[in-house]
Amino acid sequence: MTLRVYNTLTRKKEEFVPIEPGKVKMYVCGPTVYNYIHIGNGRPVIFFDVVRRYLESQKYEVTYITNFTDVDDKMIRKAEELAVTVPELAETFIQAFLDDVKTLGVHDATLNPRVTENIQEIIDFIAALVEKDFAYEARGDVYYRTSKFAEYGKLSNQNLEELQYGIRIEVDDRKESPQDFVLWKAAKPGEIYWDSPWGQGRPGWHIECSAMVRKYLGETIDIHGGGQDLTFPHHECEIAQTEAVTGHPMANYWLHNAFLNIDNEKMSKSLGNGILIRDLVKQIKPQVFRFFMLSAHYRNPLNFSDESLKQASNALERIQNAYDNLKHRLTTASATSEIESALTDRLAAIASQFDDKMNDDFNTPDAITAVFDLVAEANLYLQQERVNAGALQLFLDQLQVFDQTLGILSQQTDELLDEEIEQLIIERTESRKSKNWARADEIRDLLTEKGIFLEDTPQGIRWRRK
Ligand code: AMP
Ligand code: ZN
Repeated sequence: MTLRVYNTLTRKKEEFVPIEPGKVKMYVCGPTVYNYIHIGNGRPVIFFDVVRRYLESQKYEVTYITNFTDVDDKMIRKAEELAVTVPELAETFIQAFLDDVKTLGVHDATLNPRVTENIQEIIDFIAALVEKDFAYEARGDVYYRTSKFAEYGKLSNQNLEELQYGIRIEVDDRKESPQDFVLWKAAKPGEIYWDSPWGQGRPGWHIECSAMVRKYLGETIDIHGGGQDLTFPHHECEIAQTEAVTGHPMANYWLHNAFLNIDNEKMSKSLGNGILIRDLVKQIKPQVFRFFMLSAHYRNPLNFSDESLKQASNALERIQNAYDNLKHRLTTASATSEIESALTDRLAAIASQFDDKMNDDFNTPDAITAVFDLVAEANLYLQQERVNAGALQLFLDQLQVFDQTLGILSQQTDELLDEEIEQLIIERTESRKSKNWARADEIRDLLTEKGIFLEDTPQGIRWRRK
């Protein structure tokens, strides 16, 4: 079965055909880096990571670009509030973002371009729009002339007239029409600025993606993604900018994830119910959050609650236990002998069931059902007294293939970390104080087994590795 994806532009599932065979160029709009990311932001981050991982598992060479908006009105206000410069603010939250997504097991993007590194490309893009009459200057600002782009509204399926009703009429006599959007903003005194043909200023929000997509990926890309709130105006504006300049479609497939709610409410600043990723992962394993995210189809809303996290945690534990048990049994299993063909056939069927579900517009909840089918088979196999190393390895390999896409398993290493050793030593000392000799001995044995030697010294207990 070939991959089919739901394209917001055509409002249907379509067969995925890359521009260049074997290669995928994808771009996902990244964060404005003025605060820590919350669990809602985690949805596009995790979903598009899974899309990219799945494509790679299908042997595509993926170029994955996601940008940082490191200058805009929110950045300027926040920097003022914190009495830091805009670049300092950006640096702090870019690092925080990269740390957070790493914790979530998200693979590094091919590149994370920033607005401030692309000002010249942005100016050139705006100049090309002005040249073609798709943009006009007005007292140091530059605006996009939406009435000139006949297809404006095609992504969000609205026409200019309908849009007129939706837009708050702003009191701004610089614009020819309320739907027009800003490409270049004149700097107010004291604000960060760059020189341009229209005076000192900074880019509007939408133009950065058009400029960066063209620079890093080319005129037409395969997949453009983001949360569904970006469909309008952001992605609509990106299309208007790019297609006016290049005359080609900006992206062949537009993918948008639905929102994450908390306790069935919208997450919002005014409700104060936002949870930061970095706070969440102090309480639950990041893999549980990933599993939870993938337990719903990306185009359906997903509700975050204690209950749904608990369910995710229990379900993931079943997969992790099977994985750990397989690994454990492998240490004592009898040598590889011939594997029954019924078993290899069954595993192959489960593997293609997983792919079929992922090929159906990245249906992760149904793909996870295939993982559970594998777990059930593995558990059945593990009940046998004598197991064959080759069969165990087959199960493990298949789980690992699934996990290359999902990224939900913890790879336990046998080695103890320094902090774990120190913690065990403290616990052992306390056990001895409270005369819990059994526990104290147990800890000593565990440490010996792991090759850690303890030495009583006048300064206390010292440890070293064998
Ligand atoms: P923002 O922080 O609003 O600029 O959003 C960054 C990315 O996260 C965008 O792709 C948004 O669509 C997405 N996003 C923000 N809030 C949520 C949410 N509650 N659920 C899913 N995606 C979200
Ligand atoms: Zn964008």
